[in-house]
Amino acid sequence: MYRIVIHGGAGNWSERNVEAALKSIGEALEKGLDILRRGGTAGEAVVEAVATMEDSGYFNAGIGSSLNIEGVREMDAGYADSEGNIGAVSGVRRPKNPIRLAYWVARETDHVLLTGEGADRISAWIGLEEIGEIPEHVLRRYQDLVIQRRVIGERNKRVVETYYGDTVGAVALDKYGNLATAVSTGGLWLKLTGRVGDTPIYGAGFIANRYYAANATGIGEYIVESLLCRRALEEYMEVGDVYRSIQIPLKELGLRRPSSAGLIAVDRFGNIAYGHNTPSMVVAYYDGRRVKTLLSRNSI
Ligand code: ASP
Repeated sequence: MYRIVIHGGAGNWSERNVEAALKSIGEALEKGLDILRRGGTAGEAVVEAVATMEDSGYFNAGIGSSLNIEGVREMDAGYADSEGNIGAVSGVRRPKNPIRLAYWVARETDHVLLTGEGADRISAWIGLEEIGEIPEHVLRRYQDLVIQRRVIGERNKRVVETYYGDTVGAVALDKYGNLATAVSTGGLWLKLTGRVGDTPIYGAGFIANRYYAANATGIGEYIVESLLCRRALEEYMEVGDVYRSIQIPLKELGLRRPSSAGLIAVDRFGNIAYGHNTPSMVVAYYDGRRVKTLLSRNSI
């Protein structure tokens, strides 16, 4: 038995071109599924699925990452599995695939989180591919947003509720019973330099134990403040229901912080779930019966 669930970010997809996103997430699903079908591990499947989306240039991760206030990419990623491996990186500028660096931290070191310049140096040292130039469409969006912000005088307002979205994540169960979770993001558009969101914070942006694996997307500040994935895991350990484990915390968070987050999860029995308190979320999954790619709307 194997399963996989992938998301391309919670937010409001209705106004944007979802077709390209669905095609791209479909490719990532195929990549992960292929690994699981051939007897690969859940860890390999989630890392390759996320790396595929980092490479697409379309999502807010890897090549397509959002730019910070200075027009620079600062990327975060996290990985955990049912064997107790945990690894994350934050504020990295160098690797093409921050998720590969997080995976390396999880498997090859005693550490949990590497940040900034040090993490970038390690990325070079272990021979990870370097990220290329910022794509034209990303630079254009940055320029538009900076101009927009000036025009509407938003400079001193909080950016967190406006500029999130398109982060990527995957959870999987493999035929050996291993669970894994992986997540990667460029963070918020126009974030202050050095800002870290939920994505590299274990218990906030991702979590796994022997029974359950999950990860989050949405407004990082609110996901950290609510330790959203930890909350989902606790709910699961209490009631043993994957669907409830994400619905309850998302509802609770939505009461205080409307339209703020999405979650995906899988358990060791092959149950999967996804949900969001935002208007929409791009999702793809294999639940044991069918392969599906969809724009999920109003799930809570
Ligand atoms: N959670 C990410 C962050 O706050 C953004 C997102 O999920 O779109 O960095």
